[in-house]
Amino acid sequence: MKKDAKFNTKLIHAGHKPEPYHSVITPIYQTSTFSFESAEQGEDCFAGDSDGYIYTRLGNPTTRALEDAVASLEGGVGGIAVASGMAAVTTIYMAYLGAGSHIVSSAAVYGPSRVVLEKHFSRFGVESTFVDTSLIDLVAAAIKPNTKLIYIETPANPTIAITDIVSCAELAHKHGILLIVDNTFCSPYLQRPLELGADVVLHSTTKFINGHADVVGGVIVAKTPEAHKFLYSVMTNMGGNMDPHQAFLVSRGLKTLSIRMERAQENAMKLAVYLEQHPKVAWVLYPGLTSHPQYELAKKQQDGPGAMISFGLKGGLEAGRTLMNNVKLAALAVSLGGVESLIQHPASMTHAKMSYVDKQKAGITDDLVRFSVGIEDYEDIVEDIQQAFTYV
Ligand SMILES: *Cc1c(COP(=O)(O)O)cnc(C)c1O
Repeated sequence: MKKDAKFNTKLIHAGHKPEPYHSVITPIYQTSTFSFESAEQGEDCFAGDSDGYIYTRLGNPTTRALEDAVASLEGGVGGIAVASGMAAVTTIYMAYLGAGSHIVSSAAVYGPSRVVLEKHFSRFGVESTFVDTSLIDLVAAAIKPNTKLIYIETPANPTIAITDIVSCAELAHKHGILLIVDNTFCSPYLQRPLELGADVVLHSTTKFINGHADVVGGVIVAKTPEAHKFLYSVMTNMGGNMDPHQAFLVSRGLKTLSIRMERAQENAMKLAVYLEQHPKVAWVLYPGLTSHPQYELAKKQQDGPGAMISFGLKGGLEAGRTLMNNVKLAALAVSLGGVESLIQHPASMTHAKMSYVDKQKAGITDDLVRFSVGIEDYEDIVEDIQQAFTYV
């Protein structure tokens, strides 16, 4: 593949290396360990003077193909494939936070990304402050002398709030802080944070990258060789590596990212318009609607509004519950970014572990229903919602 290949060409070819049997697709190297040609070559591998493989926790050709592919799509120097999205989050926290350090994070983030700081990293003396990062002044005000990371998720889960990546990067770098972006909701097809100034990007590959709701996984992409090397060493020592079989499945799912995203987004746009005019709907948050508070920013930093919609019903939580209990096509399930439509209630499901006060502050209201729009025919998706509304 030529170096300046375009996005879709990279999707199909990036990461694949010549292989003894000329297989078109990188096979599953289902092995825990690799033999050395000689004691000397083994020594070179351990010294880092040879790029041969040693042991699967430290690297494997199947996982490497996925790492290189996502790094190429994000415009980074290297990827680090891990067992889950949360392994990506915690590897980054472990790498850059320590006793006496501080992190500023979006108040509305994937639930466990926040809970792990409050419940676990706090035990090791790490301080965290959660603010609405869509308001840059609040981020600036939260910075302390010991702040090491600004961590954002944009669009945020589940409020769909958009944070300005360029402004956050400028602010972070002015203070010698790193900017970390969870790019799970957009995928590199719609947003490339490293190009906008972020230092490290992460994904739950469980979502759009794999896209088929059949594998849990995560990936980190670093902008510089130093950050890549450091994060890789933290990952291998902590032991959160992705398994080669998992990597094979994620690589397979990744190839259709563009066409899945395009179709899901087209459906989401139509559904958001439908919901917004529905008499039983109180509000809709979708970056493709001009009513979204950061519609202009989303248009600037994303290549499209994505496939995630949050909305509230006039009847509040009870009405939302009735809707969720009556959909037939959409599955009542957490997770997102798959080919199938999913509906869920964050306040009682994905964000249940957050305190009520924190949920209110983060905008995760009781009436918020989250819809991950799939690639089914739009007519069937909307018909399903329509029939469920008759019970509300
Ligand atoms: C799902 C998700 C995660 C965590 O990923 P897992 O693969 O479930 O561990 C992190 N961030 C976001 C935005 C997610 O949606």
